[in-house]
Order: sequence, then structure tokens, then C-alpha cells
Amino acid sequence: MIRIAVTGAAGRMGGRIITAIREADGMELSGAVERAGHEMIGHDAGQSAGGAPLGVKIADSLERAMEKADVLIDFTFPEVSLRNLGACARLGKKVVIGSTGFTPEQRQEVVKFAQKIPIVLAPNMSVGVNACFKLLKETAKILGDGFDVEIVELHHNKKKDAPSGTAVRMGEIVADALGRDYHQVANCHREGMTGERTREEIGMQTVRGGDIVGEHTVYFIGMGERIEITHRAMSRDMFARGAVRAAGWLANQPAGLYDMQDVLGLK
Ligand code: NAD
Repeated sequence: MIRIAVTGAAGRMGGRIITAIREADGMELSGAVERAGHEMIGHDAGQSAGGAPLGVKIADSLERAMEKADVLIDFTFPEVSLRNLGACARLGKKVVIGSTGFTPEQRQEVVKFAQKIPIVLAPNMSVGVNACFKLLKETAKILGDGFDVEIVELHHNKKKDAPSGTAVRMGEIVADALGRDYHQVANCHREGMTGERTREEIGMQTVRGGDIVGEHTVYFIGMGERIEITHRAMSRDMFARGAVRAAGWLANQPAGLYDMQDVLGLK
């Protein structure tokens, strides 16, 4: 039995992850954490997720929640995830991080913790998106520099970071395949007299509204033809199932930094 603790337990993803743990064979929820002062502290985590009680109360202490846990699944914010990683590195516990919006410096901190413990860090845990990542790499290599690349992502109106972690990852994959540095060529703003589009840039467009779970389209636009690779998420459950699958996979891994391509054997 793999025992899992969940941070952000009362959040949009936290509830779906608790349900996915309940439904998975060989997995058990052993701890649930929310930020201090959250109204759900002290409530049963199973009930908070909309199901039957699980006998695990939502707490505000990560250390206590990790006492009986093998793995932490953390879908919160980069600052919170980094604090939690520090605690798990001290305790020798494995961690799956779904939080998005890490700066390059924050990602370096994750890399350091991965010398001590096994970590899966993935901006998108869905199998479909990870298949798209592979298709994007192949498509960019085939098309080369002759096609302009634009990425458009749509999310709900509560999302706090932009562009989405998934869109950034898509941009990085395409940029790598084309021999470019994503952070040099990403163009997230066009307004006014922008001048002509450069060949190297990768346009990043963001749409926010309503309850859209997440949509990403990468356009490869050539002269007289266009390829569009689109992924649409219909619910949060496949992210949650992916995170639980990652936790199961991580249970047998040595210290290191992994992503969903590792978990799914796509590398
Ligand atoms: P949310 O705001 O609904 O949930 C975040 C939760 O974290 C909140 O309940 C908040 O109270 C809690 N929290 C804040 N500080 C905390 C602390 N110190 N300890 C414990 N809990 C704390 O957000 P969400 O929609 O669930 O998304 C969470 C993150 O997951 C975002 O970064 C989002 O982009 C990302 N996400 C990733 C994937 C993926 O597949 N990797 C999929 C969906 C969302």
C-alpha cells in the first residue's frame, strides 16, 4: 500500500486528487494539508472532496501530515511547493509537484532538492498532453524554420499564472527542437506598432474566462498551409489520475528530478 499526503487539499485539484487516490488500487490517503486559517482545517478530507469520510482530517502542519506518508502530492503555488520540498527533503519523503509558474531560479531550487529525494515535477499530468509534447517535438523537427510557431492557451478566470505552465513547456519543447532558447524567443506581448514578426519568435497568447479547464493549441503556420495540434481538457480528473500514477511510479525511484515523460515511459 502506498500512503499519500495531499497539500492544497481543499483546492480545485486537491479534491480531485483525493478522489483519485480513493479510486486507485494500492493507494491510501494518509494526510491532507491546507494553509493555516483555511476554513476546511479539521474537516474530513474525503467529505471535503465530496465523498464519504476517509478518517483523515485536513491539518495545517505538513510535518505531521507526512508522518505516515510515503509520497506528497502538491498542487499549490511555487513558493509553497518549495517550502514543502525543503521539509520533505529533511524527512526523506518523495514528492509529486503539479504547481505551475516556477521561475527559472525556483526551478533550480527544485533541481537541488532532487539530489536528495525523488521528485516528479510536471506542469501537466495528463497522458494526452504528454503525447502532444512528443508530437510537437517531432513536428517541429520535420518542419524546421520554415513555419511560424504560435501557441494559444485558454483557462478559467481563477487561474493565477500566465502563460500556463503547459504552454511554456510546449514552447520550450518546440524551441529546443528548433535549436532556440525559449526564454529568448517567447513573445508574450503584442500591442501597437510591433513591426513584422521575426522568424525565430514563438508567440504566446493567453485567454481567460469562465470555467475552461484548459485548452492548448500550437500552430505551425507556413506559406499556404497550417498545422494545428490541440489538446482540450474536459475535466480535472485526468490531471489527478496522472498525479496519482506518478506517485505510484515514484515509490520505486532513486533521488532525481523526473517528469511525466519519465512516468509514462515516453523518453
Ligand atoms: P486552487 O487555488 O484551487 O488550490 C490551491 C490550494 O492550495 C488552495 O486550496 C490553497 O488554500 C492551498 N494552499 C495555499 N497555501 C498552502 C499551504 N501553505 N499549505 C497547503 N495548502 C496551501 O488551485 P488549483 O486550480 O487546484 O491549482 C493548483 C496548482 O496546480 C496551480 O499552480 C495550477 O496551475 C496547477 N495545476 C497543475 C496541473 C498539472 O497537471 N500539473 C493541472 C491543473 C492545475
